Amino acid sequence: MKETYIKDILKEDLVGKEVSIKGWVYRMRDMKDKVFFVIRDPTGIIQAVVKKDNVNENIWNDALKFQIEGSLELKGILKKDERAPTGYEIEVKDIKVYDYGQPFPLKGDEEIDTIQKYRHLWIRTKWFVDILKVKHSLLKNLREWYINDGWYEVQPPILVGNAAENTTELFEVKYFDQKAYLSQSAQLYLEALIFSLGKVYSLTPSFRAEFSRTKRHLHEYWHFEIEAAWYHLEDLIKAVEESLKYSIEKTIEERKSEFEDLKSITGRDIKELKDFVEKPWKILKYEDGIKKLKDLGINIRYGDDLGSDEERILTQQFDVPIFLTYYPREVKAFYMYENGDGTVKNFDLLAPEGYGEIIGGSEREWRYNILDQKIKEWKLDSLKIEVGNEEIDAYEWYKDLRRYGSVPHSGMGLGLERFTRWICKMDHIRDTLAFPRLRGGWLY
Ligand code: ATP
Ligand code: MG
Ligand code: MG
Ligand code: MG
Repeated sequence: MKETYIKDILKEDLVGKEVSIKGWVYRMRDMKDKVFFVIRDPTGIIQAVVKKDNVNENIWNDALKFQIEGSLELKGILKKDERAPTGYEIEVKDIKVYDYGQPFPLKGDEEIDTIQKYRHLWIRTKWFVDILKVKHSLLKNLREWYINDGWYEVQPPILVGNAAENTTELFEVKYFDQKAYLSQSAQLYLEALIFSLGKVYSLTPSFRAEFSRTKRHLHEYWHFEIEAAWYHLEDLIKAVEESLKYSIEKTIEERKSEFEDLKSITGRDIKELKDFVEKPWKILKYEDGIKKLKDLGINIRYGDDLGSDEERILTQQFDVPIFLTYYPREVKAFYMYENGDGTVKNFDLLAPEGYGEIIGGSEREWRYNILDQKIKEWKLDSLKIEVGNEEIDAYEWYKDLRRYGSVPHSGMGLGLERFTRWICKMDHIRDTLAFPRLRGGWLY
């Protein structure tokens, strides 16, 4: 059956004709001899009026029984009406009832605890739907850039045997009679795939048993990761800047009305986003970032990792995103390319306006001997995995990638919810997805 959506009937040439829509009661006003509805569907809203004199008694009685969020199909004549919220009104002739609905438990001004309890209903909230649509476009357009540029989408595993880097943040699961973990990153598997496919990307959930509660950490998030053979750090930075700018620019075009709504909710003005697209992004060495923070009176030393407070302060010094590069080797993962001076060839992309890290990326250590030394130095050679009845070094397979035709390569991981949070100018990451996993929150 061909469906009709509200956005398709908000048209001059349908005025005077009979139209039909399916949707939910968004607002309702009973005026004795008329009932005004505002109906919503996934594409928009439209006003509809039921006049007592125009319909039979059954239809009139039906109209009076609806609650907010009741579901129905309406047929009627489309009219122009400047007073209606979207400039049109349907004069109703017939109503098909699906569900009158019961008094809806949410009014839109609830505290977070109530929202958490009714999350499954709260997700119908208009501004939240706007965010989901913006997120959809950001991802679609990001993918589009990589596809157009010749990258392959691949599907790495989620149940993994290797504890990639941060063992304290792993969720352990039972895998028959073995131990496995929920993946934190697809990187090692993407690295294995570049030898045949060259440039690959994946979108997977990543899981992190983060201890502290912050506004930017979830326990389950969507991770967009890329890896490319022959790419050095500069090539990676260029691809990241181009692809994010492409995604942002197209999303602004596609989501005009959503951004109009969001402006009054979060204060995000698309002029600010256009500015980020037009200006070149900043590349700053970690060392210079630390100097800048010290000059600002922040208590930080060379060798310290940046926390979200330091990242926030640093990003507030610039009006564009910052690629903060060449971190000290000790604060970053073992697989990053050694410069030989105690730093690695990496970057964290810090989103402006205080948001901080949304991407971590690096050129990978592709030289066998150095990687092998580092695995020992990091004491990762004591980690074992079971293969059949054998116990072998967990990183043996990863080292093979440097034994059989190793090449320079680079990659990065973007947190899709972090990206969305920044673009929509949101305070907390939890409202960038429908069912966030947060410690102490609901696990439905
Ligand atoms: P942070 O320093 O904020 O804890 P990270 O350095 O541990 O992040 P990476 O391991 O570099 O994160 O992961 C790549 C990207 O995944 C990050 O840049 C971020 O966008 C995203 N990310 C990491 N942890 C989380 C999380 N708990 N919730 C949501 N997104 C996350
Ligand atoms: Mg972390
Ligand atoms: Mg980090
Ligand atoms: Mg990182």
